[in-house]
Amino acid sequence: MAINRIELGDKPFTAMNEEEVRIYQGNQLRTLVKNVALNSSFYRDKFQSLGLEPHDIHSLDDITKLPFTEKQDLREGYPLKYMAVPESEVVRIHSSSGTTGKPVIIPYTKNDVDTFTEMMRRTMETVGVHSMDRVQITPGYGLWTAGIGFQAGVEKLGALAIPTGPGNTNKQLQMMQDLKSTVLIGTSSYGLLLAEEIKRREIMDQTSLRIGIFGSERWGDKMRFRIEAILGIETFDIYGLTEIYGPGIAIDCPEHQGLHYWNDYLIFEIIDPQTGQPLPVGEKGELVITTLTKEGLPLIRYRTHDLTCLLPDPCPCGSPYPLIDRVMGRSDDMVKIKGVNIYPGQIDHFIKQINGLSSEYQLVLKRFEGKDQLLLRVEGEEDYNFESLKQEAIQQFKSQIGIIIDIEIVPIGTLPRTEKKSKRILDYREQ
Ligand code: ZN
Repeated sequence: MAINRIELGDKPFTAMNEEEVRIYQGNQLRTLVKNVALNSSFYRDKFQSLGLEPHDIHSLDDITKLPFTEKQDLREGYPLKYMAVPESEVVRIHSSSGTTGKPVIIPYTKNDVDTFTEMMRRTMETVGVHSMDRVQITPGYGLWTAGIGFQAGVEKLGALAIPTGPGNTNKQLQMMQDLKSTVLIGTSSYGLLLAEEIKRREIMDQTSLRIGIFGSERWGDKMRFRIEAILGIETFDIYGLTEIYGPGIAIDCPEHQGLHYWNDYLIFEIIDPQTGQPLPVGEKGELVITTLTKEGLPLIRYRTHDLTCLLPDPCPCGSPYPLIDRVMGRSDDMVKIKGVNIYPGQIDHFIKQINGLSSEYQLVLKRFEGKDQLLLRVEGEEDYNFESLKQEAIQQFKSQIGIIIDIEIVPIGTLPRTEKKSKRILDYREQ
């Protein structure tokens, strides 16, 4: 093991080959496990109950011996029970939204803040932001990680941050015109809302946007192309979660073949969400993340419940960082209807293939006389005949996904637009 360290010497991470990266990650993993066994009451107890000793972990291959960490585990540590450093080293906390339960509080050390900032800087660099760009940051500030994280990355890169935060569309558009924002950051739903508003007000020629970075929810190609077409910009998908620093742990690049992630800071694994078994590169499953250098609250094999896969080939853009596929939805957003599993990503894919259907939809689930009923309510483009579009969509759904459902086509603008995440699945079956 000591030999591995000598072999790597001072070689920069980005110059390492695949095998050297594995050795590097293995070394970091060993250090991480020793550290949490010593300093984290949560992992110490967990290792003890499994009879696991830090010296059982020799290399990256041993990662599967380590237990998973669930969001529920972190909730039980509310607020700061699982902090893994003395409080004197913690400089900030962030918190997840807590929409589905108690929030999770994440403590950050100074090094954690620096690491997050560096990942955000790389994110900006990867999509082509440069020092003369003006970046309008519409995600939330405060307890949420996004706003301040983006701002730090923009500043580290040397671009100009316009920290509007969320909401107040009038003010957003005013700032965008007066300050000539060239980059827009937000949720994809808010990106669409702003794009449609710019179109409605006919102020396209007064905007200077060239890049959009949108994330925090899964969004399909139709939505992406619609925003790009209205605003005349290139858009990039961004991924992240509060428990693992925040957004910017993976980012789309100009090749748009997947999202680069920073494997000097993070180990990404894909597992079968049902069995927990690791899946090979290229197979779709649940993303599990281990933080290699996080101090305030290090996480081992954290289950994201996001569905994606590791892509086998290096990106043509030349980045040394590997790719994951775009996130196809959450394993817990999966709905089972008439014995068939349906992921929101499948609906996006289905809609994309039918000309005349637009990007926005809702899935409405009901139970009638003991039987599941599924209604897909989707927006249609105005030049199309909605009745024939509906018949085509029902046919296609049956042949592609295997079940007969009801489909309702509504004009563009009918379904709710939001500044936050769109709620696309309405499940009334338990009521
Ligand atoms: Zn690339």
